[in-house]
Amino acid sequence: MTSESDDHDKLPYQLPFPDHALQEIVVPDAVAGDDRAWVPQADNVWFRPLCLNRSQGYWVNLLRVTRSGVLSRHRHPGPVHGFVLKGSWRYLEHEWVANVGSYVFEPPGETHTLVVPDDVDEMITLFQVTGVMYYVDPWGKPAGYEDVFTKIDMCRQHYEAVGLGADHVERFIR
Ligand code: FE
Repeated sequence: MTSESDDHDKLPYQLPFPDHALQEIVVPDAVAGDDRAWVPQADNVWFRPLCLNRSQGYWVNLLRVTRSGVLSRHRHPGPVHGFVLKGSWRYLEHEWVANVGSYVFEPPGETHTLVVPDDVDEMITLFQVTGVMYYVDPWGKPAGYEDVFTKIDMCRQHYEAVGLGADHVERFIR
C-alpha cells in the first residue's frame, strides 16, 4: 500500500533554485581522470583544482606528490581541512602521521613542514585551504605565498599549455 506521503518522499524538490544561486561543481573521476587536469607545482608535485572560491578566498584541491622528503614549510593564517586518499605524510612539528583515510584540521596560526616518508611512492590528499599558504624558512622569514588567485593563474597557464584552453579553469571557479 502506497500512501500519498510515500509518493511525496520520492519527489525531487519542485521549486526553482534561488535566482542568484551558483551552479554546482561536479568532477567525475577526480583522482584518476584526464592527466592534463593536474597542474604541476614543483618537481613531482601537482595539484588538481576542484573548487576555486574567489568570493570566500579558499580553494579545494587534490595534492599529488610522487617523491619523498620535505615538500614545503608554510604558515596558515586561515583554516585548512585535509583528507588523505593515498599514501601518507606528516609534519616535522607534530608526532602524528596522516595515513589513508585520515582527516586533518589545521587551525589558523599553524606553521608546519610537510614531509612525505621515504617508503611512500605516491601521496594524494584532498585539501581545503582558506586564505593563503604563506611559505617561510624555519625562522619565519617569508618565502612567497599562494592564494586562490595564484592557483587560478597557474591553472590558466597550464590548461592553455596542454591544449585544454585557459578557460578550462572557469568550471572550478565560484
Ligand atoms: Fe599545511
